[in-house]
Amino acid sequence: MTPSETGALDLDAADPGHRELFDVPPAQGGDYPEVAYFAGNSLGLRPKATRSELLEDLDSWAALGVEGHLDAARPWLPYHELLTGPAARLVGALPSETVVMNTLTVNLHLLMVSFYRPTRSRHRIVIEDSAFPSDSYAVRSQVAFHGYDAEDAVIRLRPRPGEHSLRTADVVEQLGGDVALVLLGGVNYLTGELMDIPTITKAGHAAGAVVGWDLAHAAGNVPLALHDWDVDFAAWCSYKYLNSGPGAIAGAFVHERHLGADLPRFEGWWSTDAKTRFEMTPESRPPASADAWQVSNPPIFSMSPVRTSLEIFDKVGIEVLRERSVRLTAYLSDLLDGFEVITPADPARRGAQLSVRVRGAGELSRRLRFEYGVIADSREPDVLRFAPVPLYSTYHDCWRAGTALAEVMS
Ligand SMILES: *Cc1c(COP(=O)(O)O)cnc(C)c1O
Repeated sequence: MTPSETGALDLDAADPGHRELFDVPPAQGGDYPEVAYFAGNSLGLRPKATRSELLEDLDSWAALGVEGHLDAARPWLPYHELLTGPAARLVGALPSETVVMNTLTVNLHLLMVSFYRPTRSRHRIVIEDSAFPSDSYAVRSQVAFHGYDAEDAVIRLRPRPGEHSLRTADVVEQLGGDVALVLLGGVNYLTGELMDIPTITKAGHAAGAVVGWDLAHAAGNVPLALHDWDVDFAAWCSYKYLNSGPGAIAGAFVHERHLGADLPRFEGWWSTDAKTRFEMTPESRPPASADAWQVSNPPIFSMSPVRTSLEIFDKVGIEVLRERSVRLTAYLSDLLDGFEVITPADPARRGAQLSVRVRGAGELSRRLRFEYGVIADSREPDVLRFAPVPLYSTYHDCWRAGTALAEVMS
């Protein structure tokens, strides 16, 4: 039975999110003034508070010039520290293990400098065959940088024939004694599969490997416990589920047991202890925290939207969001019954995203946008991705997506 529009509206009344905190773009087609937005896994919507809070930071510059470093309402020198606590809570880390800096792939490289230290007998890196291309390029270039052959050194995990997602047991089986680094996506960007992070991390350690996670599609989507799961390092971007704007400043995690250790690191003046930074000594004195992985002084106006957004996550709580996310995604999943959904059906093995395999995905996403005001994206060659975001998506959005897809396909 197809759910009715009034049924969707009733569910929204009973189980509302926080759409009022966001600017929802106007639709360019269809029967409704606003888009039904399912691309929050690609670029999250702008919180309304982002604009005014960014303008406050910008105006500190006009009012204070260089004195803003210390005298701005939110002083620039320790600005990144405002983001550390909320980011740490979001990923289940200690503040000392967490830093907001750079962009995602840059962070992966900086962390691999410390955590990919290959030897002749142990130099392989395990990734998913469906890894986001940036991750593939990053690990291949790291392998080559150390003088090894990427064709041989990079192990790409594929699902079993006829299956779409990776089984944990199959991943674990691939972790042999020649693996130096396991670097997987916490939630796969294409299939939406949520990996069993604690089990794979444990298995990687048992095999003698370092285990890092790319949390681009996991941060702000599912609850994480990086410290307790004993993850070595992780990085994530802030423009997808974290709603911090295009190219937003990313996050990085280094487990406590590596802090203060004698690891190779690429350094700059922000790697040294903030207390002695302005003594201008020729040698750095890095703190025993993730801040030691910083290099440059951070871009304040790019950090401002991250701060605003993380405050929302702090206020609402990722556990509460996840509960609504499970309900909302299950509702959309019912509406997509009959399509080839390649995302795991078990809510414990997926986040918010549902990926549909269809021919002509690119053309379909254009029609959904211009004829129905439904924003979903396509990924080559044949995948349409829908991510109902628990902060701002509604049951009515899901109903619109389900009925629009059924219409364009018939
Ligand atoms: C979005 C995404 C990236 C993007 O990398 P940037 O460095 O932020 O441009 C990288 N890896 C994964 C898995 C992603 O989903």
